[in-house]
Amino acid sequence: MANHHLFVWQRSISIVAAAAFGFMAGFSLTVDKSISRRALQTIALPLGESNQNTADSQALTAQSNQQFTQLVAQLMEAEKATRLNPPVPAQYKGKTINDIPLGTGEKVIALTFDDGPWPKTTNEILYILNKNNIKATFFFIGRNVQTFPHLAKLVAEHGHAVGNHSWSHPYHQHSPAAAAQQIDRTTELIYKLTGIKTTMFRPPGGHLKNGLVAYAHSKKYVNVMWSADSKDYAVSSPRLLKNVLNQSSPGGIVLMHDGGGNRMGTVYALPEMINQLRKQGYKFVTVPELMEMREKELQANKG
Ligand SMILES: [Zn+2]
Repeated sequence: MANHHLFVWQRSISIVAAAAFGFMAGFSLTVDKSISRRALQTIALPLGESNQNTADSQALTAQSNQQFTQLVAQLMEAEKATRLNPPVPAQYKGKTINDIPLGTGEKVIALTFDDGPWPKTTNEILYILNKNNIKATFFFIGRNVQTFPHLAKLVAEHGHAVGNHSWSHPYHQHSPAAAAQQIDRTTELIYKLTGIKTTMFRPPGGHLKNGLVAYAHSKKYVNVMWSADSKDYAVSSPRLLKNVLNQSSPGGIVLMHDGGGNRMGTVYALPEMINQLRKQGYKFVTVPELMEMREKELQANKG
């Protein structure tokens, strides 16, 4: 989905550029496409008159340059926030997904990694994903983010999607207040460190009925399960590779782990997994991208 990211970036740049022209010409910020031409025509006028009162004009220019710089900084911040937090389509808010097959049957698949960030293995996985130009989705445990904040930042800086996997990975029953502690605290810390305000949750151990998913749903998180379980916490590299290849499907979500124990088996299996899936024609997407693709498809079918 490199194209998608490029598109978002280009769109953002053009919004910033249009806003800049609008500001310089004294227009308020607007997405009116005709603004650039009008702006160019208007800018020429004050410059021509500037000889009459140079001091005033310079003061005005300095002031307007400063305001302009501030405006661009604000717009860049807003653009970054939008890029890091793609909105969850309404149909998935407060719902549980296992996979999202597209109507076209397009071979896209989402690799997901739970229980990190974790020393060594998170880095190794980032290296392999980067080398293969793949974006994946990481479900962080809050207390691991607290212990390894630099790794959490690194995952986000590499452009991967990030979800919430609770604060301490508990399995027992939770009251709404206890569930809020597990989920809110994790989301807040991820946001503080990475700027990502995640609206994706994955329950520890896949437990659906201990109060965590109920709370996540009430807060409109999409509960992200999986359609292919590597069982990488229990089996060797060849076996986990086989598990994923046997269960892979278009629109599928693959469960793996980058943390919570020795995950070198996952690291060893990953390059061959990517190879084999690519040979079968699969393209790799993040979970938010998968949701967005399906949403666009539904919108197009409506229109
Ligand atoms: Zn887990």
